[in-house]
Amino acid sequence: MAFGEFDVIETYFTHRFAQRDDVQVSVGDDGAIVAIDPTEDLVIVTDTMVAGVHFDANTPARAIGHKILAVNLSDLAAMGAEPRWFSLALTLPEIDEEWLTGFSTGLKEMSEYYDCSLIGGDTTRGPLTITVTAHGVVPKGKGLLRSGARPGDWIYVSHALGDAGLALAVQQKRLAISDPHYRKVCERLFFPTPRVALGQSLRGIASSAIDISDGLLSDLGHILKASRVGARLSLDELPLSLPMTESLSQEQALTLALTSGDDYELCFTVPESQRGLFDTLVAHSATKPICIGRITSEVNRVALDLDGEPWQLPAGEQGYQHFVNANERGDDGQS
Ligand code: ADP
Ligand code: MG
Repeated sequence: MAFGEFDVIETYFTHRFAQRDDVQVSVGDDGAIVAIDPTEDLVIVTDTMVAGVHFDANTPARAIGHKILAVNLSDLAAMGAEPRWFSLALTLPEIDEEWLTGFSTGLKEMSEYYDCSLIGGDTTRGPLTITVTAHGVVPKGKGLLRSGARPGDWIYVSHALGDAGLALAVQQKRLAISDPHYRKVCERLFFPTPRVALGQSLRGIASSAIDISDGLLSDLGHILKASRVGARLSLDELPLSLPMTESLSQEQALTLALTSGDDYELCFTVPESQRGLFDTLVAHSATKPICIGRITSEVNRVALDLDGEPWQLPAGEQGYQHFVNANERGDDGQS
C-alpha cells in the first residue's frame, strides 16, 4: 500500500520523539492527556508558518522544523513560561520524504533540547502550512504580561536586533552584503534562539514582556498600548551585530533594528525597585540583555534619541502587518 498519512505520522513524528514522564496519553488516541500540577498555571500559545509568506523555497526543511517550535517557545518565554508539550498541525502538498526527514530532525532537536514533548497533531493535504500549539507552565499568578509597564521602568532587549531582517533583505535582493556576513545573518533568520531561560528568570522581576516577531517598534507598541504608557529610546544603546554595522549605513541599520521582524528576541521592562535583583540575575546568566530606554507617561508615544538629538525613522518604514502591508506593497510577508 502507498505511504499515507498514518505512515507519515509514525515514521517521522511518533517513533522519533521522546516523551516526558508527565505525558499519560500521547499520539495514537483521539487526544493527549498530560498530568498538571495544581500549583501551576497553564500557558498556551499558537503560531503558524505558511510557505511563501513566512519562508521561501530556499529555506532548508530542518530550519523550518527548528523555527516553528522556536517561535512558539519564544511566545512561551515572553510569558515567563517553562515549555512542556506541543501539538503539530501539518498541511503538506505531497509526501516528500527528504523534506519530512529534514523537518522532523529540526523539530526533534528543539523538542529534545527544551524537553517539550510532541503529544499530537493533525496531518492533511494542501498548500504547505505548519501550525504548532505549545503548552507551558508558570507558578500560579506569575505569568508575564504586556500590561504591567509603568513610567520610569527601564526597557531592555535580550540581544542584537535586525539580523533576520537583514538576511531577508539580502535574500530578496533589496540589500547586498559579504558572504561571511550573509551566512551569519541567515543563521539568525533560519535558526532563531527562543530566550526560554531568560523569560523564566524574569518572573517577579520584569513588569512587562513581549517577544519581538514584527519589529521592536511594533512589538514595544503592544506593551505601550496594553500598559497605557509611552517610551523614550536611546538609539546609541541599540545592540547591532557586526554584519549590521559593517554592511549598512547607520540609518539603514537603525531602521532594520527598529522595524524588521523575525528576531524573536525579548523586549521587557524592569522597575527601578527590581533593578538590583535584575543586575544580579544578568551577572549569572548566559544572555546579557541591553538597556535601551525608559517608559514615559506619554501614552502610545515613542521618542527616539540619537547622540542626544531627536531622531526619526525614514518616511514609510514601520513594522510588518499582514493585511496592511501585503495589500499596500503586494510583497512577501513575515512573522
Ligand atoms: P483523528 O482522526 O481522531 O483526528 P488523526 O487520524 O488525525 O486522528 O490522528 C491520529 C493520531 O495521530 C492522533 O493522536 C493525532 O494527535 C496524531 N497526529 C496526527 N498528525 C500528527 C502530526 N503531524 N504529528 C504528531 N501527531 C499527529
Ligand atoms: Mg484529526
